[in-house]
Amino acid sequence: MSESSFSARPFFTGLRCRECGRTYPKTAAHVCEFDFGPLEAAYDYDAIRPSLTREALASRPHNLWRYRELLPIDGAPQAGASTGFTPLVRADRLARRLGVKELYIKNDAVNHPTLSFKDRVVAVALTRARELGLDTVACASTGNLANSVAAQAAAAGLRCFVFIPADLERGKVLGSLVYGARVVSVRGPYDRVNRLCSEIAGKYGWGFVNVNLRAYYAEGSKTVGYEICEQLGWRAPRHTVVPVASGSLLTKIDKAYREFTQLGLIGDCAPAIYGAQAAGCGPVAEAAQHGRDFIKPVAKPQTIAKSLAIGTPADGHYALRAIRDSRGTAEAATDPEIVEGIRLLAETEGIFAETAGGVTVACARKLIASGVIPRDESIVLCITGNGLKTLEAVSDSLGETTEIAGNLREFEDTILRVPRELAASV
Ligand SMILES: *Cc1c(COP(=O)(O)O)cnc(C)c1O
Ligand SMILES: [Zn+2]
Repeated sequence: MSESSFSARPFFTGLRCRECGRTYPKTAAHVCEFDFGPLEAAYDYDAIRPSLTREALASRPHNLWRYRELLPIDGAPQAGASTGFTPLVRADRLARRLGVKELYIKNDAVNHPTLSFKDRVVAVALTRARELGLDTVACASTGNLANSVAAQAAAAGLRCFVFIPADLERGKVLGSLVYGARVVSVRGPYDRVNRLCSEIAGKYGWGFVNVNLRAYYAEGSKTVGYEICEQLGWRAPRHTVVPVASGSLLTKIDKAYREFTQLGLIGDCAPAIYGAQAAGCGPVAEAAQHGRDFIKPVAKPQTIAKSLAIGTPADGHYALRAIRDSRGTAEAATDPEIVEGIRLLAETEGIFAETAGGVTVACARKLIASGVIPRDESIVLCITGNGLKTLEAVSDSLGETTEIAGNLREFEDTILRVPRELAASV
């Protein structure tokens, strides 16, 4: 009824099965009853076209809701007022180190409120949860999602449960507890956490943002792609490197580029998308490199990139398809390469990324070195989370501070190592 306080003709029309195309009403459902295909938000692009123009966008606030017509909600946004429109940084110093001409960092390490791109998907899912009248929200998380659901549920006054694997980094655990969420730590890998959450969602009817609300949640990731195009001056980059956990972010950046092309907001530059994974949990990279169209699950992920450690990626199949159809590929990075990637980005651009960012930089470096990504075309690296949450990953590789008592003589002697006679004449 109040389908649209926003427009007479709704932009978001319903859910549709990715496999058979059957349509479904906008409920907390995420799989097709006929073939178990994932449900995806569907839109009326003809209704959107006249409303979503470059000129209209220019006057809107700098948050993810500026692309409101392409997000799956009915009324006004109810979360995420400060989320999105993160910087797209021209990264010339890193570009020189990698030997490329035109390089950018999409910096979601400074996304609000919890410093990862997950704030985008949660803003959409929680708005939808409230529209559906749910009072309890939850998630199965590798860390960042838990932080974001906990924070945004607190701000929205919703009851919150987050489920994480027991071996997460301290920063990610505390970064959920502080908001007063119930944090349930499950002994076992993410896949077990996820299976448990599916059972709870079925039984209790809570809004699990990445289970029964997944169709809504996933659409929030498209805003990374929209912003990249708008910030590049209305074009897509030729090459985009994206970290892959469940494969949702990669799939949705691809969808964003295709929607903007279809709406005439950008020209068709055939953007190629590359998946970045850890070698210790790289099922999508492994399939892409072997030219396979199915994914072999990884039973025991082993990597410092815990945010990406999903052995059975829910959207792996679609990520693989987006990679192949865009003529990209996927790469994997070892733990030492991930640490090097984190340090390289920090030392050249002053951006401290978490382990997933190290994966992205390391994989991009390998794809450039092997000639897969050419050196003279535009490249965007998606940095998705903040390094302050994964201090453990780098703490052993950075050396020590130098402690002094605090007098000038000692500073000159031990830090500058200025010879005594010279120091006296300075
Ligand atoms: C969750 C996450 C990803 C990947 O997300 P998917 O959509 O599940 O592939 C990438 N980077 C960080 C930091 C994340 O937390
Ligand atoms: Zn179906």
